[in-house]
Amino acid sequence: MAVDIAESGFEAVIGMEVHAELLTRSKMFCSCSAEFGGEPNTRCCPVCLGLPGSLPVANRQAVEFVVRAAMALNCEINRETFFHRKNYFYPDLPKGYQISQYGDTPIGVRGWIEIETEDGTVKRIGIRRVHLEEDTGKLLHSSPSESEVDYNRSGVPLMEIVTEHDPRPGFDQINTAYEAREYIMQLRQILLYLGVCDGKMEEGSLRCEPNVSVRPAGSREYGTRTELKNLNSFRSVYRGLEYEIRRQIETIRSGGVVVHETRRWDEENEVTAPMRGKELEQEYRYFPEPDLLPFRFEEAQLEQLRRELPELPLQRRRRFEEMGLSRADAATLTSEKAIADWFEEAARDYGDPKPIANWVLSELLRLLNQAGEGIQSCKVRPAQLASLVRLIDDGTISGKIAKGVFEEMFRTGRDPGQIVEASGQTQISDEEAILSVVRKVIAGNERVAADVRGGKEKSIGFLVGQVMKETGGRANPRLVNELLRRELGAG
Ligand SMILES: [Zn+2]
Repeated sequence: MAVDIAESGFEAVIGMEVHAELLTRSKMFCSCSAEFGGEPNTRCCPVCLGLPGSLPVANRQAVEFVVRAAMALNCEINRETFFHRKNYFYPDLPKGYQISQYGDTPIGVRGWIEIETEDGTVKRIGIRRVHLEEDTGKLLHSSPSESEVDYNRSGVPLMEIVTEHDPRPGFDQINTAYEAREYIMQLRQILLYLGVCDGKMEEGSLRCEPNVSVRPAGSREYGTRTELKNLNSFRSVYRGLEYEIRRQIETIRSGGVVVHETRRWDEENEVTAPMRGKELEQEYRYFPEPDLLPFRFEEAQLEQLRRELPELPLQRRRRFEEMGLSRADAATLTSEKAIADWFEEAARDYGDPKPIANWVLSELLRLLNQAGEGIQSCKVRPAQLASLVRLIDDGTISGKIAKGVFEEMFRTGRDPGQIVEASGQTQISDEEAILSVVRKVIAGNERVAADVRGGKEKSIGFLVGQVMKETGGRANPRLVNELLRRELGAG
């Protein structure tokens, strides 16, 4: 499809529904393990299977996690919140209903999240609700004629975060695939910072189901929307929405009508296709869950949770910018809380964030990437990077040698001082020693030397290179330059 969305005269309106599995140890209403995986149906009990006579008990930590997330997303917190039963029959739901929060008493309401658009402006996306429910089981289609169901996931606490479809004044909505991807990236980062979700889209612990409609640009009316499923990476959120927006524009342009339906993103063929089965319009017959009491929050309790909120990625990024880092550098350093923590510790130890940021952004991230490792398993401690940079500052080693030393630190976790000492790689700053090499190089490269004497300043670079080579890269470059110029009477 060749429609250029930006030039089409249409605009898209995208609503985001995100489900995040919470990082509690046990499930929402029983003490079964909420961990991902395990042999099928080994992490279930009468409560999560909904056997007669079993009674749910709400997981307090899950409730607190959702409160924390709702606060971080700038929501108002409802002082009283209820659970409902959402009734429907499907094999992934052994009880025949899901315990969820319906209606106007979810835990959080009327929040917002800030994202950056393609042109760098900031949009404040309205969030309608943040609520708590339980996850369903997982269907495994083992062959065309057979399906199996694994209830290990059934009852895992699940947080749902829904954007405002028609935002209040002062708030924005998501209009492009780019913004939708930004939104999910921002949201994921916040959840990771809060430690309430592991954010693994490929394992399904963070799932995103956008709905999208198109309308003539500038119109206030909404078009018919479709819902997208099976988007399990940032890339597929972007590609899936791009495809679906184009498809809807093409449909309308060719005189067709967009049908209200749920569509599945086909990763392999990069198309969306209508989904069959469960996704038809449902009558859920909600009613209050009779086995669970309403949750009431005391003011002091909420205050406590608010005080415990960590610094969030956006705040931290802005603080890093105030420390003198560029916007892009600050964004990379805060993309992961653990990296931001590591950087800050090293910067504090060293006393100046700039050189430390450069090392983290270039060498450290490159080596981690190469090794396919996270910062958590990094052998280099922040204080060790600080002492490495100090060795450059006091002239013990050159910046070039420092890179090699850092690689060894990364491999072994040894102190830079030890490595430098053991390898004899200290920088040569002894003038006499360097001068003898300088003279030797000049004698061996008479033509170049003559050029420099004759005013061809640039040629001096070649001679510097030769001296560095002779000394195994250990000569202090500043001294080499100085001595060469003196010997050749240049500059
Ligand atoms: Zn259970």
